This record gives sequence, C-alpha cells and structure tokens, in this order.
Amino acid sequence: MVGAGPAGSTAAYHLAESPSLDILVVDKSAFPRHKTCGGALLRCRDWPAEFPNYAEVEANLNGHPNEHMYFCVDRSVWWEGRDSHFFDHVHRHDFDALLLGAALDKPGVSFRVFNVKSIQRLADGRIRLSDGTESLEARAVIGADGVSGVTSKSLGNRKQGKEELGICFVHHIVCARPHEKAFIFYLWAGDLGYAYLFPTNDGYYMGVGFVGLDGKTVRQHLDDLMVYCVDHGLLPKEYSLQRKSGGLAPASVVDHVAEEGVLLVGDAAGLLNQLSGEGIYYAMRSGQIAGRILAESLDQAAPRYRKAVKPLLDEVTYSKPIRPRLFRPVLRGYFNAVRLSGLVSLERYLKRRFVNRLFRRRDLFEGSHYQELR
Ligand SMILES: Cc1cc2nc3c(=O)[nH]c(=O)nc-3n(C[C@H](O)[C@H](O)[C@H](O)COP(=O)(O)OP(=O)(O)OC[C@H]3O[C@@H](n4cnc5c(N)ncnc54)[C@H](O)[C@@H]3O)c2cc1C
Repeated sequence: MVGAGPAGSTAAYHLAESPSLDILVVDKSAFPRHKTCGGALLRCRDWPAEFPNYAEVEANLNGHPNEHMYFCVDRSVWWEGRDSHFFDHVHRHDFDALLLGAALDKPGVSFRVFNVKSIQRLADGRIRLSDGTESLEARAVIGADGVSGVTSKSLGNRKQGKEELGICFVHHIVCARPHEKAFIFYLWAGDLGYAYLFPTNDGYYMGVGFVGLDGKTVRQHLDDLMVYCVDHGLLPKEYSLQRKSGGLAPASVVDHVAEEGVLLVGDAAGLLNQLSGEGIYYAMRSGQIAGRILAESLDQAAPRYRKAVKPLLDEVTYSKPIRPRLFRPVLRGYFNAVRLSGLVSLERYLKRRFVNRLFRRRDLFEGSHYQELR
C-alpha cells in the first residue's frame, strides 16, 4: 500500500480479511500528519453501515455536526437547508491517524515511513518500490498516494494539467463561533470552483478551490472571502489563524485505474466528485473495493477492480476533462435558468434535484439515516 490516507488505510483494513497476506502500508510521512482538506464528511451518519473501520473510530473523532447549510451562487443565497444533518467536520490530522490505527490493529498489517520514488515491474511479475536507496518488493500494490502520485505515473497516466487540477487553500481559524451556519459560495467571483466556511469544534475552516486558475488568484479569492466573512458577521473580528495550508485536488479521473498487480484508489485515481469536491467518501469506497478484491485473490485483480470501481468513476464525473471555459458558463447559465424558472414553478423542483445530487441524497439505501432534501 503506497499512502496511508483514508484510501490506503481502508484498503489495508479490508485486505486484512485474507489471513494469508503480509500487508505493508508505506507513507512518506509519519502519522499523525497534516493533510490540507476541508474535513467535511458528507452523509457520514450512514458511514458506520458502509465502513466498518469508520464505525470503529467514530466515537473518538470529536466530529462537529453541520445542520444548517447555505448554498450560494457567488454571494447570493440560492438554497438554504435547515434541520438536517449534512456533514460532520473532522480534523484530518486526527481522522487519518485513527483510520490508520484501525488498519494496524488487524493481523498482518504493518506500517513504515518510506517515500516511494519509483515503481518497477520485475520479470517474475513482482513489483519493486524504491526510495532511491532501499527497495521493497510486493506481489501487488495499491496506489493510494494521492493526486498525481508516483503509482499513477507508473501506470502511464500523464501529469495532470492546470485544467485537470483544483488549486485549494484552507485556513483553520480558532475562535468563538457566532453562528453554526455552513456556507458554500459556488462560482465565487464568477470562477469555476467554490469558497466555503464550515463550523468546526474549535472555530471555522475557511477555504477555496478552483480549476483553471493560478495559485495567486486562488489565494486572492481566499483573502476576499476572509474580508467578506468578517464584514458580514460570519467570522468574529477576534480570531487566531491556527494554520494556513494549500494543496491540489484532482478534477478528473485518470485514464488507467489498474494494470496487473497495481490498483489505484482515492485521489490517485482522480476519484473526487467534480460537482461537490467530495473525495474522502470515494477514497474510502475505492479503498474498500480494492482491498476486498485483492483479499479474494490476486489473480485477474486489475480487470475485476476496473469493473467494480466503474460506477464510482461514473458518479464523480460530469465531464472528462473538465474544461473551465465551457463548464463555467454552463453552470452559470444553469443557476440563472433555475432562478428564472420560478416564474413557471419549476424552481423548487430543479433546486431539489441539484442539492440531492450534491449531498448524495439520491438512491439512499434502506435503513439510511437520511431522506431526500425537500
Ligand atoms: C483543500 C482541500 C479541501 C478538501 N475538502 C474536502 C472535504 O471537505 N470533504 C471531502 O470529502 N473531500 C475533501 N477534499 C478531498 C480529500 O481531501 C481527498 O479526496 C482525500 O484526502 C483523498 O484521500 P486519499 O487517501 O486518496 O489521499 P490522501 O489523503 O492525499 O493521502 C495520500 C497519502 O499518500 C502519501 N504519499 C504521497 N506520495 C507518496 C509517496 N511517493 N510515497 C509514500 N507515500 C506517499 C501522502 O503522504 C498521504 O498521506 C479536499 C481536498 C483539498 C485539497
């Protein structure tokens, strides 16, 4: 396993269902480690039923429930949802370490800090990972090393360009909370992506993520968001900036998700929902699928995984690749058309369809804690 984020830990947890395997999880960082992320676990009251590893750690997460959402287009409110659980906010520093701990509690799973620099397939089918001085060999590798990772490149996936990556920045703000409202400002300043403010257990997370822009412009959007939130009373004037960080998010799934002996999961496969920016759920789902497939048998793992993960790849993809110049006017046109459709009573219906898709409230399983949003 290369990478011990939610995808890698979940894959290791399920791989351990096979008693005959020695499972080594490697990561370039020791845990706990920081990960730049908004930390929103969407619809997570259903996760214990879907993810046994999440069920094990949930009580220790200290997650902060978010039950009042504003969905804005640029700065105008487009939809408001109250009295429904949307997501728990978690700090990834703790969340990822707890998930890794759950995997390491399983028999046969171990961890070491190892920065994989190259991956090579040997004549006997085994796979060699090297950090430049030392090497490790495995019969199969799960690539959970995040966006544009070395495992993905080893499968021939090309380096993602500006239009295939989201540039993101997050501020962790510690302060008294004047309110419990979560905001998503879609198409902030008219650009493709969004800004957000999420209440947390110690204040707020404020962040931005955009496709097709340079880092300087994205950072400027975050500065503008900060001013906007203070001016509108969404943030108190007194706060402490605990941490500022930035990172990349995939904006498109990769061309090759698996070749014999190597399976890509989570961000390494580009599994991030293009509409919502949600990635943690898809990282864990794909990790679970890959882990179970390899636990069953190493034979023909790649075609079995490609088939099993296809519905997830389809679910996150609206356009491949996402073209900001095309996508931005289409989305703006859509939101304007929905507003105008109020004239013919279609507005509520169209908004309902959109938010149910955004918050994954469609096709809920029996026994789900959630209902479609009205
Ligand atoms: C700013 C931002 C905000 C986000 N907000 C949200 C949100 O609110 N909700 C949500 O659901 N999703 C969100 N996402 C997406 C989410 O963070 C990712 O989809 C998720 O972390 C993917 O998990 P993963 O396990 O695939 O990869 P990661 O969590 O990125 O883990 C990859 C691991 O691989 C390790 N690694 C990398 N390269 C190597 C190497 N060469 N050798 C060894 N180890 C290596 C890294 O150290 C890391 O620990 C956000 C993303 C960003 C950038």
